[in-house]
Formats: sequence, structure tokens, C-alpha cells
Amino acid sequence: MNGSDRADGIVIVGGGVIGCAVLFELAKRGVHATLVERGMVGREASWASAGIISLPSRPAWRPERVELGRRSLERYPDLVDELEATTGIAIDYNRTGEWQIAVDAEHAAEEAARVVYQRGLGYAVEEVPPAEARQREPALPEALEAAWFVPGVGSLTVFRLTQALAAGARALGATVLEQTPVGGLLRDGGRVAGVRLLDRDLPAATTVLATGAWTRFLGDAVGAALPTRPVKGQLVAFANAPVRPISVIAGHGGYVRPRPDGSVVVAATEEEAGFDRRVTGDGLAWLLDLTRTICPGLLAGELVESWSGLRPGSDTGDPMMGPVPGTDGLWVAAGHFRTGAKEAPATGALVAAALAGEPPDPLLAAFAPPAAVGSGVAG
Ligand SMILES: Cc1cc2nc3c(=O)[nH]c(=O)nc-3n(C[C@H](O)[C@H](O)[C@H](O)COP(=O)(O)OP(=O)(O)OC[C@H]3O[C@@H](n4cnc5c(N)ncnc54)[C@H](O)[C@@H]3O)c2cc1C
Repeated sequence: MNGSDRADGIVIVGGGVIGCAVLFELAKRGVHATLVERGMVGREASWASAGIISLPSRPAWRPERVELGRRSLERYPDLVDELEATTGIAIDYNRTGEWQIAVDAEHAAEEAARVVYQRGLGYAVEEVPPAEARQREPALPEALEAAWFVPGVGSLTVFRLTQALAAGARALGATVLEQTPVGGLLRDGGRVAGVRLLDRDLPAATTVLATGAWTRFLGDAVGAALPTRPVKGQLVAFANAPVRPISVIAGHGGYVRPRPDGSVVVAATEEEAGFDRRVTGDGLAWLLDLTRTICPGLLAGELVESWSGLRPGSDTGDPMMGPVPGTDGLWVAAGHFRTGAKEAPATGALVAAALAGEPPDPLLAAFAPPAAVGSGVAG
């Protein structure tokens, strides 16, 4: 059986950056798949995303999670070049570097520990005295206590990346169905056998759930444990401020990201609020406090946008990727939480390679979803 025979009849549910990355990597391998998106490609978490593509910052992460990010970071420059050349969509990947900063002793100690961790992973992080840091990046606060500069990282527009992945896949023969909600999974004995649409069934040998924060619903319906949950993030953007950062600024629990159109994004709250997406007074107050702390000059500009999105959190604390145990025919690629943009390239490659029947990569097994709660496919 060759790769494309084996992978015949793949349906991917969900057109965020993760589903589109899997679709594109399958198309690159000559494997046809159909992606089904209930709205428009890249309009949920992948639209709201701040798009920071940076180093691992959580010392509690497993080495496999760090490896997922490392592979993605390495893949990004070529992937963006390829997609921009073939689709004409500008992805805005700017590797301006990132400042990691603190304005008080407590946060300086936290950042210093983070830098020790990052250097231990082999990354170059430069410690810069506050006065010099403010010369190099005039948007930094006067109250700067400590600053480190990470070269080579940066940010991109995740919505455009997602659209480019879908367009690139289409150009290679993939099918993308937008405005097409999946209402349920088809069953054939113990297997999942495709998806139910409003007006027809779409049979498939393999169904991949890349449904972000909504993945739990389709999993629950067939007794599969795919415990995603929405984690709201609110953001604002400023324009026409007297200062505009050159690089990403990170610290005190948030980020500031300069965008190519001249505006600057401040991100993001982290809230367990179910599927509520309202931009709230408390959310704005938190973001304005953060701005005053890490990039105060922006406050003299215009507040031109505010929005929110639902990160796909996971009760496992990690993304879930690969075949769903106990539920034949069902795969998942969801739950990337705060770093789905950063981890999309390696996620797409790992999942697509396995679907195409390439030799197993142990990294994929490290993100296997939990075993089913019940007896597999119900009914
Ligand atoms: C505010 C915010 C800031 C962020 N900042 C960063 C950052 O700086 N760096 C970073 O790396 N990551 C960041 N992230 C995280 C990152 O954006 C996400 O992890 C990533 O976008 C998740 O992609 P996804 O494809 O899994 O989910 P989504 O983009 O949410 O896509 C899921 C798709 O599934 C579709 N869907 C759901 N149910 C169905 C159904 N029944 N039928 C058909 N379609 C369905 C939805 O319509 C949606 O389009 C941020 C996220 C948010 C919200």
C-alpha cells in the first residue's frame, strides 16, 4: 500500500492554523484531503492570535513540547518563503527579535530564571544593561529594572498564515469547504466513518478533529476523551503613538507586538470564561495597566482596536495529536493553547507524515490523546 492509498479519504474538521497546516503538509506529500470549516478559514483563535513566534518560556514544559517548538521555529523561514511565493499572501513574518523585560525586582528574578532555562536549551539570550536597552529600543519604560534581548524571533499575522496554508494546499489539489458546519461524526460499527453535514454525509477513512476549543463536543459524542476548553484572551491595538517599538516586548505576563501597518498590539488576558467573547472593562483595564508597565508611550496614541479570541486549552496541559485511542478512524490535532501559532509547522508535518504512512516519529506519540472514557464509539 503506498502513502496515498493508505491515506485515502481524509477529512479534516476545522480550518484554523492547525487544520490548515495538516492539510498543507498532506498536500505536499501528494495525499488528498478535504478540510471542512463551519465559518471562514482562520477566523477563530487563529484570527485573534497575537502571533508571537518566540522561544520556549515555561520551564515546566516537557522536553517533547520544547522540541515541537524548536522544529517549528526552524521550519518557519522556509515555510513562509514558500507560501508567500506560491500564494502571494503576505504573512508579515518579521524576525525583529524580542525584549524580555522587568520593571521590578520580583519580575526581574522571574525573567532571570527564564533566561537560565532558555540558555540551558542552547538558545542565545543577551543580557543588556537597562540604559543601553533603552537606547536600542526607545519604547521601553524608564523604570526598566532588567532587560534581555533574544535575536531571531518575532511575530507574524496568524490569520494570513492560515489563509496561505489553505491556499497553498488548494493549489496542490486539496479541497476546502467553508461555511460548512460539521454536525456530528458518522459511525460504522466501532469506527468513525466520516462527518455529517447539513445536507449530506461526507464519508472518510480517517477523520481529523482540528476544531480548536470546540474539539471536546465532537469527541464527547463518540465517547472519546478530548478535553479541550476555551481560554479567553482580550487584546487591544494602538496607532499613532509618539513611540513605536522596533521589536516585540515581553514581560509582566503579556506582550507588545509592532505590526507592519504601523499599529501596535498589546496582548493578552487569560480568562476561564467559557465561550464568552465579550471585550470587558476589566479586560481593557488589565491591558492598559500592562501597557503602562512595559510600553507606556503607547498610551499617548489612539486605541484603535479591541478584540478577543478563544485559545484551545487542554486539560492534559499539552496539545493532543494523533489517532484517538479506542476510536478507530478518528484522529485529533488540537489543544495548543497559547502557542498554536508557534507550534503549527511541526504539528502539521508530524500529523501529516503519520497519516501518509511515513515511519512513526516518536515525537508524535508523546502527544497521544488520553484513552477513551467509555467504550469507544457509542451507538
Ligand atoms: C488572544 C490570543 C492570543 C494568542 N497569541 C498567540 C501568540 O502570540 N503565539 C502563539 O503561538 N499562539 C498564540 N495564540 C494561540 C494560537 O492562536 C492558537 O493556539 C491557534 O490559533 C489554535 O489554532 P486551531 O486551529 O487549533 O484553532 P482555531 O483557530 O480556533 O480553529 C478551529 C476551527 O475549527 C472550526 N470548527 C469548530 N467546530 C467546528 C465544526 N463543528 N464544524 C466545522 N468547523 C468547526 C472553527 O470555526 C475554527 O475555525 C493566541 C490565541 C489567542 C486567542
